[in-house]
Amino acid sequence: MITITDKSQCCGCWACENVCPKSCIRMEEDNEGFRYPKVNTEKCIECGLCEKVCPIKQPRQNDTVPESFVVQNKNAQILRNSTSGGFYSAIANYVIEKGGVVFGAAFDENMTLRHTYSETLEGCTRFRGSKYVQSLIGDSYTQAKKFLDAGRLVVFSGTPCQVAGLYGYLRNRKYENLITVDLVCHGTPSPRLLRKYLAYHATLAKSKVVDYRSRDKYYGYDFSTATITFADASKQYHKGKESDLMLGLYFKDLISRPSCYQCHFKTLHRISDITIFDCWDASSVSKKFSNKGATNVFIHTEKGKAVFEQLKSDFIWAPSNIVPIIKRDGVMIKHCVPMNPKRDDFFRDLKNCSIIEIEKKYLPKSNLKNLSAHFKPFLYKAGIFSIYLSLKRKFF
Ligand SMILES: Cc1cc2nc3c(=O)[nH]c(=O)nc-3n(C[C@H](O)[C@H](O)[C@H](O)COP(=O)(O)OP(=O)(O)OC[C@H]3O[C@@H](n4cnc5c(N)ncnc54)[C@H](O)[C@@H]3O)c2cc1C
Ligand code: SF4
Ligand code: SF4
Ligand code: SF4
Repeated sequence: MITITDKSQCCGCWACENVCPKSCIRMEEDNEGFRYPKVNTEKCIECGLCEKVCPIKQPRQNDTVPESFVVQNKNAQILRNSTSGGFYSAIANYVIEKGGVVFGAAFDENMTLRHTYSETLEGCTRFRGSKYVQSLIGDSYTQAKKFLDAGRLVVFSGTPCQVAGLYGYLRNRKYENLITVDLVCHGTPSPRLLRKYLAYHATLAKSKVVDYRSRDKYYGYDFSTATITFADASKQYHKGKESDLMLGLYFKDLISRPSCYQCHFKTLHRISDITIFDCWDASSVSKKFSNKGATNVFIHTEKGKAVFEQLKSDFIWAPSNIVPIIKRDGVMIKHCVPMNPKRDDFFRDLKNCSIIEIEKKYLPKSNLKNLSAHFKPFLYKAGIFSIYLSLKRKFF
């Protein structure tokens, strides 16, 4: 039976919880806000299934070298609302049009990020966009298997460990009707911190939070912005990593799950059909791309290739050379971020301190930071942000 003695060796994928025939595994939240399996030993029959499906205990790898493309969705609204080039929305549309089922991460009415599924195009819009927090898989693998066994086409997207968890749960059974899409992944932050951060902003705005996007294009693609949407539409929140707490702490490598700093799923040879990640300089691949966001797409399997062929007409697209793409955009494909040495202190303080105290201690304001927080929005509003970026790329 599963026993967690070292938290870095559990990515929280829920495969063990989904597979247990006695339903005796509960995913319990720890002090940091991450869930780990806890077995009810009185009900456990020691069948060992939970260990067999665990993607960390039973690692799987592909040995193919992916084909690489850059894509940009032709639909302006989808492109605006997607994190990068809107690849995911195109594959979701394709699957829905074929009568299939789309799995992804969406906030519920309490702003908890959960994996769930949709059988309609409208339902899929909730999956669009990256949310920098660990999503709860719940019974998604069990649901996905039911649809697969019934012969429905299924697309499942998630972090590499969640996709590995799904394959573990399916016990490597090959389903021709399953398409998997994983992300290049920096790490997933604490749900407990997100709850505290959103509660703080709801109090400040005196309005309920109804949506949160970690990578909004409010100031354009090149300036990743956290956007909080309130029930009271007159309240606005759009801040970059220089002044937003979640983004600032995330990129200081303080708030991700312990397993993210020793990730077992960082490889070029993915088990997914398709891997997607941000393309930061699409114009260096082809001049036909605009600066409104583009997705790098790595295709690992024949199935992935066949699907991509069907989707091409939705995109402006170009083949790309894998080596410079990895060097420029894909460091996180193979490498983990180092854990910030203050991480333990941070999670101790998360319990006892207010958001303002946390901000003061871990993201202290400086004149330079203040200037930088205002500088980019100013350039954007003046219409010269893209000139600033091309100069930055050229000289730094
Ligand atoms: C936690 C996280 C870390 C990332 N780290 C990197 C990185 O280091 N480098 C990089 O280049 N790209 C990273 N990405 C991927 C990037 O942000 C974009 O998702 C990618 O460029 C695809 O964009 P898109 O426009 O095609 O699709 P999008 O519209 O962004 O949709 C992507 C899919 O991601 C899923 N998703 C969103 N949030 C989560 C979540 N928390 N957990 C699981 N699935 C989720 C949604 O269900 C959606 O189906 C990360 C994404 C996430 C969620
Ligand atoms: S050994 Fe079997 S019964 Fe016990 S927790 Fe694991 S899956 Fe459940
Ligand atoms: S199956 Fe997933 S959740 Fe369960 S122990 Fe392994 S990594 Fe953790
Ligand atoms: S960094 Fe690795 S362990 Fe962490 S969420 Fe991403 S794939 Fe999972």
